[in-house]
Amino acid sequence: MIASLFSRRDFLKILAYGAALLGIRGGVQGFIDKVFAEDSKRPTLVWLSALSCGGCTESFFAIEEPDASELLFNVISLRYNRLTPEDYSNKDFSAISDEDSYLLFVEGSFPQTDEGFCLINGEPAEKLLKDLLQRAEHTVAVGSCASFGGIPSLGPARAASVSDIVKNKNVINLPTCPVHPDHLILIIMHLLYFGYAPELDDYQRPKMFFKNLIHDSCERRTHFENQRFLKDFNDPSQSDYCLYLVGCKGRQTNSDCSKRKWNGNLSWCVDCGAGCNGCAEKNFYTRFSPLFETQDKASELSEDVLKFGAGAVAGASSVWAANKIKERLQKRENSREV
Ligand code: SF4
Repeated sequence: MIASLFSRRDFLKILAYGAALLGIRGGVQGFIDKVFAEDSKRPTLVWLSALSCGGCTESFFAIEEPDASELLFNVISLRYNRLTPEDYSNKDFSAISDEDSYLLFVEGSFPQTDEGFCLINGEPAEKLLKDLLQRAEHTVAVGSCASFGGIPSLGPARAASVSDIVKNKNVINLPTCPVHPDHLILIIMHLLYFGYAPELDDYQRPKMFFKNLIHDSCERRTHFENQRFLKDFNDPSQSDYCLYLVGCKGRQTNSDCSKRKWNGNLSWCVDCGAGCNGCAEKNFYTRFSPLFETQDKASELSEDVLKFGAGAVAGASSVWAANKIKERLQKRENSREV
């Protein structure tokens, strides 16, 4: 197996990147020697999905280097995930009954009302979580729902996070909605190599990903300092301005999104003009809604700037969105005519 690892350049690339970021002694070779030298069996990953949209499983398959198939065939063995194709994983829960220990990754939150919600193989998801925890070497709450309850915690299910349910185990929280693919691969590497969790903050998030405020390394920060705020989505001259007055929560959110970006370092929410929604923080979404309104009135902003109303923002953003859709539809029509 190690030979097959060496044969893949892109696989080595992510190992090299991860090894450097995690400070692994001996780099890639050090990682391979430690993780694979003594035991030819691939480490086991068990992935439990409760109340979720499935977006975090999609993030797992968006890990770029190595791609998901390489990760699953060369590095780890995904023994259970009911959302993945059968080539990659087992959908049958009994497949893990003979596993002594594994990494347990949990996606989604757990209903706290009727037991009829969220049954897996006829069992309440919360019962399966408690059963699985007994043999889990490490437990990772993947995404905002598993970490802090997320959107399902707002509805009739009043769903709870993994940490709400599991009081006596250390849980690593990897919020953002969905989880970042880089965070997934790097936490897997860290747990396999070091055998313990990285340093965590007060919300049990790895400091290596969630130490800094988004606002501090945002590309629109100069505009914030100079009080150039986007107020009209229809005005192209404002398109690069700070999104604070249209609800950006980058001043209240710790995450490396502004540096790491998404989709292979291509872009991120603020870059797209959407503002940060605060999905890396505890009690997202209640704490930050309405998403298009400013909550912390920064004392350094002038009265004139703050007079700008949230209603105007919501109206402007919906007009902006409607115009975009109209433009796209028009383009589609034009291409049909050709
Ligand atoms: Fe800060 Fe958001 Fe403005 Fe960026 S867009 S500078 S994160 S308030």
